[in-house]
Amino acid sequence: MKALHQAQIKAKALRVIELIGSIDAFIQKNTSVVCPSCTSVCCKNRHGRHDEEDLAFFDAAEITPPFFDSNMTDDAPCQFISEHGCTLKRSARPFRCNWYFCTTLLVHMQSGPAKPYRNFIDALNEIVRLRKEILEAMRPESAA
Ligand code: SF4
Ligand code: SF4
Repeated sequence: MKALHQAQIKAKALRVIELIGSIDAFIQKNTSVVCPSCTSVCCKNRHGRHDEEDLAFFDAAEITPPFFDSNMTDDAPCQFISEHGCTLKRSARPFRCNWYFCTTLLVHMQSGPAKPYRNFIDALNEIVRLRKEILEAMRPESAA
């Protein structure tokens, strides 16, 4: 990455983190109702592993990713889960965790007031758009 590009990419990455923070309360409000009675909790250890795109994103934001212990089995409960939910800040979670909403959760979100749900969808779309731009710019061929 050229120096100027690096600053622009970092600014976009920080905006993504801000947007993820902005949807935290809405998601939390819904998961706190739906998830405690779930009999098939989705937080498995294999989902807690950050993939290459997650790591590239952390690199863009100049953030150190959380340590992931590879000695734990994939099907065990995620190493980041606690009795109060995920222990990672939402912006530090693998992107798949911030993008996945089971049907029960989604239906619950959609059954509430329309405006918060619309704001949530708008923020999600903006997160996806900016993250795509960042990852494209982080590709080695983009650095030339
Ligand atoms: S998001 Fe859905 S599948 Fe995951 S714990 Fe909550 S209710 Fe269960
Ligand atoms: S949301 Fe947190 S606890 Fe659940 S799979 Fe992702 S990292 Fe693990």
